[in-house]
Amino acid sequence: MREVIAPLSKMLAQREISSQELTEKYISAIEAGNGTINAYVSTTFDKALENAKKADEMIREGTASALTGIPMALKDNICSDGDLTTCCSKILSGFRPYYDATVWAKLKAQGAVMLGKTNMDEFAMGSTSETSCYGAPLNPRNTAHVTGGSSGGAAAAVCANMAAYGLGSDTGGSVRQPASFCGIVGLKPTYGAVSRYGLIAYGSSLDQIGVLANSVRDTAVVFDSIRGVDKRDQTSVDFDFGNTADTLENADVKNLKIGIAREYFEGINSEIKDAVMQTVKFYESNGAEIIEVKLPVLKQALPVYYIIACAEASSNLGRYDGIRYGYRAENCNDVEEMILKTRTQGFGDEVKRRIMLGTYVLSSGYYDAYYKKACLLRENLIADFDEIFDVCDVLIAPTAPNTAFPLHFSGASPVDMYLSDIATVPINITGVPAISVPVKNDSQELPIGMQLIGKKFSEKTLLDAAYFYEKNAQIGVADFDGGVVI
Ligand code: GLN
Repeated sequence: MREVIAPLSKMLAQREISSQELTEKYISAIEAGNGTINAYVSTTFDKALENAKKADEMIREGTASALTGIPMALKDNICSDGDLTTCCSKILSGFRPYYDATVWAKLKAQGAVMLGKTNMDEFAMGSTSETSCYGAPLNPRNTAHVTGGSSGGAAAAVCANMAAYGLGSDTGGSVRQPASFCGIVGLKPTYGAVSRYGLIAYGSSLDQIGVLANSVRDTAVVFDSIRGVDKRDQTSVDFDFGNTADTLENADVKNLKIGIAREYFEGINSEIKDAVMQTVKFYESNGAEIIEVKLPVLKQALPVYYIIACAEASSNLGRYDGIRYGYRAENCNDVEEMILKTRTQGFGDEVKRRIMLGTYVLSSGYYDAYYKKACLLRENLIADFDEIFDVCDVLIAPTAPNTAFPLHFSGASPVDMYLSDIATVPINITGVPAISVPVKNDSQELPIGMQLIGKKFSEKTLLDAAYFYEKNAQIGVADFDGGVVI
């Protein structure tokens, strides 16, 4: 896959281009392409150019690092001081936070340039980005198809060269699945590896900020720049990953123990199954040891996810009452009516459905039957994964059971949409990391992605294995050929 960050950084360092000129090129690409692709829902071009100027100073002064001066995008649920951050929901229309998410604060300090906020499913609830109040982004590889979701705008922006990389959130697959639908790389880090401070909450025990990029090395560079413990996020963890990007060249898969679970391939489209098994053969022929493992609780992962995610969402979204944030309904006689009308008018159907489901599973009389049972099954799934990672370094699975849906799929059947999350949600339930890497195109020329999954804090192993594949495998998804910035 195409490496973008290091070559741009080199050009900046050698003064072949300034960050201001580079930023202008990305702005032109957005102005030319966003009308069709709808990847960005708001732009911050003036600030981007100011930040680019600062980046140029850093480059001149010799204080630049890997991401200095490189234009990127934030998902519309990651806060940045003074910029619209709406979760693509009417209820947060006009909302501008007054602080930076830790990930953005870190990147800004390193001289990153943010171009704007990217489209997503409303409150990150969905798998197609079609529940966005701004309308769906379109898949740059085939605009009759969705980008996937919920970080669909970020995936589209990166794929179509409207950002060098993007940050998204992944609660049940929202970084990996759109990355796979758009033929790019998506990393969902270990729960706690990256601070969630400033990420607008969906399911707090599942949410994790992740990276969408054109190549594994780009992904590693960004991961190295955003991770780390944060006193503002009590669930963040201090772990020494070392530098994952600089050591990629030494990656080898000889004697790497790769697990394959039959359960992970049940109900998966056969083209995807074949493509993923081809990668397993590739690893095997390069010296990896393939181990068959069992994952019997996988079947329960979807109900567990949808019970826990909805329960947490129903609580997290309780704060949108028309008083403190965004939208407020008009012509109300009292506060109660105002709250009722604000929530009725402000939330879309999918969000309302999940708030109701979540409230139901937490309600007295049903709590034990649903929420408590889901938490117990979560422990079983964690135990199953622990057993697998006692004998394997990496588990290989498809990222999704299908390639990019045609547009309007999600409106047809919410349950079918939920079912399509089967391959990604177990990762969030158990808190482990996973990376989605493009494998090849299917017969409709839509990209297929595979997931490499590891035990907690094994990002380096995953990035190494993914890089080895990306560099040496003969198959692969072609780079998107439209609108290359440089
Ligand atoms: N598709 C899943 C859901 O709708 C995952 C979304 C996400 O990761 N934010 O909940």
